[in-house]
Amino acid sequence: MSLQLDSNGRLHHLLTLDGLPKETLCRLLDRAGQIRDAALGRTHKRDSLVGTTICTLFFEPSTRTRSSFQIAAQRLGADVVNFDASTSSARKGETALDTMRNLEAMGVRGFVVRHPEDGAAEMLAEHTGEGTTVINAGDGRSAHPTQGLLDMLTVRQAKGPDFSRLKFLIVGDVKHSRVARSDLHALHTLGAGEVRVCGPDALLPGDGTLAGCEVGADFDAMLEGVDVVMMLRLQRERMEEGLVASLDDYHRDYGLTAARLRRAAPDAVVLHPGPINRGVEMTDEVADGPWSLVLRQVSNGVAVRMAVLETLLA
Ligand code: ASP
Repeated sequence: MSLQLDSNGRLHHLLTLDGLPKETLCRLLDRAGQIRDAALGRTHKRDSLVGTTICTLFFEPSTRTRSSFQIAAQRLGADVVNFDASTSSARKGETALDTMRNLEAMGVRGFVVRHPEDGAAEMLAEHTGEGTTVINAGDGRSAHPTQGLLDMLTVRQAKGPDFSRLKFLIVGDVKHSRVARSDLHALHTLGAGEVRVCGPDALLPGDGTLAGCEVGADFDAMLEGVDVVMMLRLQRERMEEGLVASLDDYHRDYGLTAARLRRAAPDAVVLHPGPINRGVEMTDEVADGPWSLVLRQVSNGVAVRMAVLETLLA
C-alpha cells in the first residue's frame, strides 16, 4: 500500500503488512530485537520521542496492545494520551475522523488506532496533516500489523531467522482474525517453508486470504510435524450466530491439548495473540506449559512497538 510508504520508500504510517517490503519488515524486527532488553525496563529510558505526543485512539476494547503501546511510547520519552470511545464524545456521535482532527489540533503527532471497521486506520491516515502518523492497532478483521511483527520476532527468537526450514500451522477462527491475516502476510514475505491453516469450514475465509497455504479441517492430521502452532481466539464479537455449534464441540475438534501437541515436531512452540479462552482454544496445560510462547509474545510486543514508534516518529 503506497499510503504507508513515502516516495523515498520511507515508512510513514503502519497500516498493514500486506505488501510491506521484506527489507522494511526485517529492519523493524532487527531493531525490535536490539532494543528488547531496554524494552523490558532493564536499562534507562530512551529519549528519542521527548516532546512528541502520541494518542492511543481505541474504539474497541484492548488489554495487551494498548498497554504495550503506552509503555513503548513512554520508554521512548513521549507523552501519551489515551482516548477511549466508551468514555468520550464518540458516545455523543462524534466521528473517528473529527476526533482525530481535534486531537491533532492539540498537537498529537502519532495516532495508534483500533477500530471495529475494516479500513478505518487507512481512512484516518488519508486525512492526517503532514507530519502526523497513523499506526493500525487492529481494524475489523483486516490487519493487526504490530501483532504480526511481534509474532515473527517471537518465532525468530525461538527458531532462528531462516523461516524456509519451518512448518507453520494457523488454527481456528481465521475468517474473523486480523492477526491471522497479518501473520500470513509476514510469513509469505519472510519465505516460510510451509504454511498450513486448519479450522472448521465456517471459520475459514473464502476470499483468497489462504492462497499458497495448505488448508484442512482435520486438526490432528494438520499438526503432524509442525514447528510452530499459531492458535487464534474464537472472535465471537464478529461472528454471526450459529457458526460454531458449541464451545465443547469446538474444543473437542480444534482445542489444543498436550496429548494432541505430541503430533507436532518434538520442539514445537505454541503462540496465541490473547485473550485466550482457556479450555476452548487450548488447555491450561498448553497455555502455561513449556511449549507456550504466549508471554514472550507479550514482552516482545513492547519492543516491536518501540521499534515502530521510533521508526515512524523519531
Ligand atoms: N488481541 C487480538 C486482536 O485484537 C486478538 C484477539 O482479540 O483475538 O485482534
